[in-house]
Parts: sequence; C-alpha cells; structure tokens
Amino acid sequence: MSLLFIFIFGLIIGSFLNCLVWRLYKEESLLGRSYCPHCRQLINWYDNVPILSFILLRGRCRHCRKKISWQYPALEFITGLLFVLAFIKNLGGWATFSGFGPLDLMLQINSNHFYLSLIRDYFIIAVMLIVLIYDLRWYLISNLIIVPAALVIFGLNLFLGFSWYSSLLFAIISSSFFLLQFIITKRRGIGEGDIWLGFLLGLIFPQLSLWWLMIVVAYLLGSLVGLILMTSGRKKWSSKLPLGVFLAAATIFVLLYGQVIVSRYLAWLA
Ligand SMILES: [Zn+2]
Repeated sequence: MSLLFIFIFGLIIGSFLNCLVWRLYKEESLLGRSYCPHCRQLINWYDNVPILSFILLRGRCRHCRKKISWQYPALEFITGLLFVLAFIKNLGGWATFSGFGPLDLMLQINSNHFYLSLIRDYFIIAVMLIVLIYDLRWYLISNLIIVPAALVIFGLNLFLGFSWYSSLLFAIISSSFFLLQFIITKRRGIGEGDIWLGFLLGLIFPQLSLWWLMIVVAYLLGSLVGLILMTSGRKKWSSKLPLGVFLAAATIFVLLYGQVIVSRYLAWLA
C-alpha cells in the first residue's frame, strides 16, 4: 500500500520534471499552464494526468492530433519506479523490507535520519533525470540546474553529519578530475558542463569508494553503448556521445546499489 502511494508520488514528480526540463530550455516561467508545443493550445488538467492521459489520448494531442513524445510517460514511469526503489533502499533493502511488520516499519520511518536520507535520494534522482534528459536532447548541462542543486545537496550533507570542509574538498577534487580530462583531450569528448557536473557529483558521493564506483560504471556504460551504436552503424567514431547522460545514469545506480556492491566487494576481498 505504501509502495503504491510512493509510486504515484513519483509519477507526479516525474510529470513535474517533464515540465521543468522543457521550461528550463525555453527559459519560460514555471507558473504558467502547460500547452501543446504544436498547436499551443492549453492542456486541461484531465489531459495532464501522468501516464493515464497518454494512454487515453493514444499519445496524441486532443486538439491538433499531433504525436506527444513517448519521453513524457517514460520519464513519469521511471521516476515512480526509482522513488519506490529508493524508499526500499532507505529501509535497508528488500530483504529487510519484506521481513518488516507494520510496527518495525513505523519505527524506522519515524527517525529523522530516515527522512533526510530519503529526501536527499529523491532530490538527487530528480536532478540526475533532468541532467540526463537535457544532455541527451540538447548536448548541454545547464548551470541553472547544477548551481541550485549543489547548494541544496551541500545543505543536506551538513544535516546528515558530513563536515563542510570534507564535502567541499571532495567536490573540488571530483571537479578537477573532469577539468584534467578537459585539458588533456583538448575539449574533445568532455564539455565544460561536465566539470560543473563533476563538482555536484563530489557533493553527492563524499566517499571515495562510491565516487570511484560511479566513475567506473559511467565509463563502462558509455563504452558499451558507444560500441553497440557503432556496430549497429547508427553512430560513427567521430560523433560524440554526451558524457553527462552516463554520469547521471551511473549516479542513480550507485545511489541505489553502491553501498551494497562496495560492502560485498570488501567482504569478498577479506
Ligand atoms: Zn496540439
């Protein structure tokens, strides 16, 4: 029951993210009502229900019958799913969750640390989904996203007990890692936006083990997708793949499963 509620909450946030990505790009106010990008007709609330409206309208605008991008329901569904996964992770994983009685669940949920950690995860997932869509569509990482996100995560880190200097120092080191690649590759393959994103990623993972895992996952994912696109002839060697997309996807993955992977790896080593 609680999981269904969280999934619906995620759908609503996902719908908001769709709107946010579009308006950030168009530099429009967040307050106005949504409209169809083809016929500019305002969208009624009943045509704006996450996923349901898309199915009922069969993916077309009610007024001009032009196609609505599949990206809208996809982002809504993915946000809903990720919010559920993050909730389960914060309760100590699926094994703990399924073994919980209602009282255990209440006790766990009533701690401040649980809420702060969950809010931090939800915020990071939302920001990374925006970065991913934005970079995929327009090959750009906007500082309108990175700067406010960095401030919020820095604040949440303080509340969660990370010291301000280690948080900041790690963010600078993380940013320098991308700056170094930017200089070495002479701006090829890596953009200025990735340096700013690097700063944010340092704040998100102020532990070396998780940060490294995120980097490894991102570059592996990038190489794999690059290889698939190349062998299927869809992209040439020279055409660039946006790095931000893979960094954002790896960040969400490591946020959800990094701790488990690192502790299993350490146990395996010992
Ligand atoms: Zn229309």
